[in-house]
Formats: sequence, C-alpha cells, structure tokens
Amino acid sequence: MTEKMKKEESFEFQAEIKKLLNILSHSLYTHKEVFLRELISNASDALTKIRHYSLTNPDYEGKDIPLEINIDADEKSRILTISDTGIGMTKDEIIQNVGTIAKSGSLEFIANLSEQAKKDSNIIGQFGVGFYSVFMVADEVRIRTKSYKKDEPAFEWHSDGTGKYFLNPVEKEKRGTDIVVHLKDEEKEYTEKFRIQSIIKKYSNFVSFPIMVCGERANQITAIWKEPKKDIKEEQYNEFYKFISNTEDTPLFRLHTSAEAPIQFSSILYCPSTNYETYGFKKLEHGLQLYSNKILIQSDCKMLLPEYLRFIHGVVDSADIPLNISRETFQDNMIIHKMKSILVKQVITLLQDLAKNEKEKYETFWRQFGRILKEGVHFDFENKDTLAQLMRFNTSACKDASGLISLKEYADRMKPEQKEIYYITAVNRETIEKSPYLEIFRKKDIEVLYLTDPNDEFLLSGLGEFEKKPIRSADQANLDLLKDTDKKIVDTSEEPQNYEEMFKHLLKTIRVTLADRVIDVKESNRLVDSPCCLVNPDGVPSVHVQKLIQMVDSNYKISKKIMEINRKNRMIQNLARMNENPGYQPLIEKMIQQLFENALMQDGVVFDPTAMVPRLNELMEELTKAVLGEGKRIIV
Ligand code: ADP
Ligand code: MG
Repeated sequence: MTEKMKKEESFEFQAEIKKLLNILSHSLYTHKEVFLRELISNASDALTKIRHYSLTNPDYEGKDIPLEINIDADEKSRILTISDTGIGMTKDEIIQNVGTIAKSGSLEFIANLSEQAKKDSNIIGQFGVGFYSVFMVADEVRIRTKSYKKDEPAFEWHSDGTGKYFLNPVEKEKRGTDIVVHLKDEEKEYTEKFRIQSIIKKYSNFVSFPIMVCGERANQITAIWKEPKKDIKEEQYNEFYKFISNTEDTPLFRLHTSAEAPIQFSSILYCPSTNYETYGFKKLEHGLQLYSNKILIQSDCKMLLPEYLRFIHGVVDSADIPLNISRETFQDNMIIHKMKSILVKQVITLLQDLAKNEKEKYETFWRQFGRILKEGVHFDFENKDTLAQLMRFNTSACKDASGLISLKEYADRMKPEQKEIYYITAVNRETIEKSPYLEIFRKKDIEVLYLTDPNDEFLLSGLGEFEKKPIRSADQANLDLLKDTDKKIVDTSEEPQNYEEMFKHLLKTIRVTLADRVIDVKESNRLVDSPCCLVNPDGVPSVHVQKLIQMVDSNYKISKKIMEINRKNRMIQNLARMNENPGYQPLIEKMIQQLFENALMQDGVVFDPTAMVPRLNELMEELTKAVLGEGKRIIV
C-alpha cells in the first residue's frame, strides 16, 4: 500500500444521493450539456461568496487572486477541468455539501446572511442537486478544493457516481475549486473548444465573472438587466435586444424593471417593431429567457407571459427560481405565476402610458400588435377591462380606414339619449359604408364602430359592455335607438292612396312567399333608402361571424333572419300596388325572391347562382317588355 492509499478515506453516499444519481443518469435533464451550466453555476456561486466575503473583509488573504472561471479540455484523455477561484471547501464542507442532499451549502450560506445582505448577494441554487448532473457525462469526477479560510488544507474528492466517494489530502496552493471531469467515452464532444464555447454562449453568457475557455474569454455580454438603468446605454439595450430576438430590428419600446415584493426579480422586456405573424409566419412562440441569478434556466419560457403578449421578447431573472426546475414543474411554481401576473401588469401599464402620452407611438404599436393584444379581452378575465381601454377601432367618425378610436372616446361622445354602443362587421370600410344597416345611424348621426378584423366581433361580444353600455351589432332586430324611431319620420304625403292597407297586404305576401327562408317579415324603422334588409333576432351572432363559423364547420347553416321592409322605398310602394292585382302574382313572387337574395348578397352570403340567374333574366325580359309598352304594363 502506498502512502496515499493509506490516507484515503472512503464514504457511502447518502441514500437520497444514490437515488438522485440513478435518476440523473436517466431522466432529469434532457440536454446533457447542462452539466456544464451547473458546474459553472457552482463556480459562479463560490466566486459570488468570496466577493461577498471581501465586502466585509477587504484585507483578506488572497484578495489579489482574480475572480474567474477557467475551463481546460484535453481531448486525448477526455478530461475537462472547470476551475474557479471561489470560496473553496474544507474537508467537512465537502462531506456536508457534496455528500448530502438535504444540506445545500448555498442554502446555509443564505440562511446566515442578514436580510439586507440577502438582497445584495447573488446566490443561485437552493436545491442542491446540480453538481450531480455531471455524472450524466462522466464516469469519474474529482473535486480538488482549498478553502479561503486560513490554514485549511486542500482535499481531493473523487467518485465514479455510484455508491461511494473518497477523500484524500492534496497539494493545492490557490484558493478555489477544480472540478476534474473524466468524460465517458461517448461524451468526448465536451472537450471540443467550440462545443464548450457554444454551451457557455447558450446558458452562461451573462455570468458576471469571466469564463476563460483554453485561455480565451467565452462570455462577452454582461447581464445588463441586473445593472442600474442609469448605467446602461441605449446602444447596449439595442444590442441585447438583437441578441435575444435574433433580429436586426430596433424595438418599439422596452421595459426595464426590478421588483422587490412580493418576489424579487429583474426583467427587461422588449416590444419588436414588426409583427411577423401578419407576414404569414406561424404563431409567435419564442417565450422569454428565464434566468436564476444570471444563469439561464430556459431560453423560451412561455409560462411568463400570456399568449396575448406572445410578441414580447425579453429576459426575467429571479434568484427565487430553482436552477433545476423542469418544464413540468413550471406549471405548479407559484413564483412563476406571481412573476407572470406582475409582468402582465407592467406591460399593460406601459401600454396605457403610451396610449395616453405618446398617441402616435401607441397607434403604431396597435397597428402591428393590436390583433394579438385583443385576444386578452377574451382570455384574461382579470385584466379584461383595462385591455378593453387599450383597444382601438375604425369608426364612422374617422375620415378613412386608417383612423383609430378608443371605446372611451366613443363612449365619451355618445349622445345623451344613446344607451348602446354599435358596431357593423364586414370585410372593409367601403363595404360597411354601403351597408343598409348604417342608414339609420347616419340619419341620427350616431357613431358606429367599423369592425374589419374577423376576431373583433367575438371579442366585443365577449366584452358585452363598456362602461355599462351594452355593445350591440347594428344588424340586431331590437336596438335601443330604434325604439323612438317610430313612423312619425315617415312622410305619408308622398305615399299612394290606401297605402297603409296595401303595405300590410304586401308584408303578408312576402311572408307567404319566403315562408321557409325567413323567420318573419316586418316593417322597418331603420332603413332610409334601401328597400329591405335582414336582421338577426337578439342573441344570434351577425352573419359575418356565422360565415366564419361556416368556414371551419361546413355543416353549419347560417341562421334564418327577420326581413325588414322599408315602406318609404319607391320600389316597395310600387310592389304594394301591383300586389293588389292577382294577375301580377307570379311576377311579384319572383321579385320578392330576388329582393331577398339581394339582401343576402349584401350581407356577403354567397350561394348557388343557378336559380338566381334565370330569374334575373326573366325579370329583365319583363322590364324590356314594359319599356317597349308590349304585353302587360308592369311599371307603374
Ligand atoms: P446547489 O448549487 O444548488 O447548492 P449543487 O449540487 O450544485 O447544489 O452543489 C452542492 C454544493 O456543493 C454547493 O451548494 C456548494 O456548497 C458545493 N460546491 C459545489 N461546487 C462548488 C465549487 N466550485 N466551489 C465551492 N463549493 C462548491
Ligand atoms: Mg449548483
């Protein structure tokens, strides 16, 4: 037996660690490369601790040793060494920290700090399992460590990651820890310099100590989100944005905040200037980067913002998030939930600010991302009302299709007698302006929201009301504004004799003719020029929405409607007169069918033209006869 062998002590791992090692070598992490992240994180912890120590003991021994992490790799022997000049460990500490799971060294350290110091120190990791991830790639690991404490001898720990570990005294001059990783045969890629560098770029780029790989600095970018705002240049913010968004854009706005209560975290959120979803790209799903004290945990964490803010890029850093959190446990993590709700509030508040103080910028934002933000009205019950305030619409009060009006502006200028908010849905502004539903609103000078985004109507019906004013589609049968619009506005002097009776008779004929195509036929008090229109009974979605439903469900039938007839319309008056003559019945029925289908077409409902075209041709033939005075005179 050699001298060394005699001194070697052997230890059994705690039962929990044996279990853990077993799990680690199988399932905990999907990407084995994270072992490096964990080792760097531990090194960074140890350096953070010594930095903290130096704050209270400025003249400590070894104060001249630079605080850094060195990584060396030897491809031939498959040995990867991660060295730090951190706090190191005494023999007892090794046994306690690396041999036992329940006692995380970091946790103890944090527990011993004063409340104030806890806030200042950058301590990562609270669960104490990260180190063992190295056994996913290693068949042997050696820890050579020397404590910063005066006169403590250095020790070497080694294990193959099964049941036992061994401790030996060792020669080591400098304070700190070297983790010597003997890579498994199939894991030798981790000795490639480029591979190591790219892992560092991916996970540890923002570690606040230099990481040197084979003598070269591998982490360049500082964690600007942890810096005071005043120290960060505009340029740095933009550079960082480019880095995390992978674009060359300049962001539309950004939000750099740190929260203290109820949880401590810092974040920088960016709103891009372009919405790639509108360019036909698939749904954005980049998520936010989640850090725990500058160590990247997840680069696309979608749990931190709701879907309707999916366009936001950014970084969130909280020391309260355990490094080894898995995607599955995100769901149950209360800290994540709390951060999410704070982040949402922050974004909404910023948008409110913009809308109030930088109207133009807000409108630019709205044109890009409004269609995504709107989804929140539907899905975020808590912030529904605030989000409703942020919505913008084109309305009848706008000069052209580019105008944007908020519901608040609309509500504020409602007429005293107006009780409801009205909207019309169609593909574009021109179509809406030609809509018969708009006639009464024009006449009464009442503003109407023009909805051209297919989702708008779902959204507004989800909202139901704004500032207690019901939001209603203009094609609904019983609108409040129609209540006082009685027949008084009809100038009866120009009507044919006995028109009252004739009109009633005509309504009856139309009812019979369209019996299986409409719910009812009524006199209209909303039309000014058009002869007729189709309206929906209360609670039925507008045709526009029904058409959307039909697009996804081909069995869906557009619901029947109520046909409204304008008694002031000249053609209707003529039709009523013809209707008194039984000889014209076949012609009248054709005209009624055509009137109905015209109204359908006006609503954008397309249907089989095979019945309509012959009918139109017949009607035109009758017209030619009438013009030439041949056959029966039908034009009165
Ligand atoms: P955690 O970092 O969450 O505490 P780990 O399993 O990663 O859990 O590490 C366990 C403990 O081992 C650490 O808390 C620390 O006390 C000790 N340790 C690991 N690596 C080092 C290191 N490079 N320098 C000093 N101590 C270390
Ligand atoms: Mg750790």
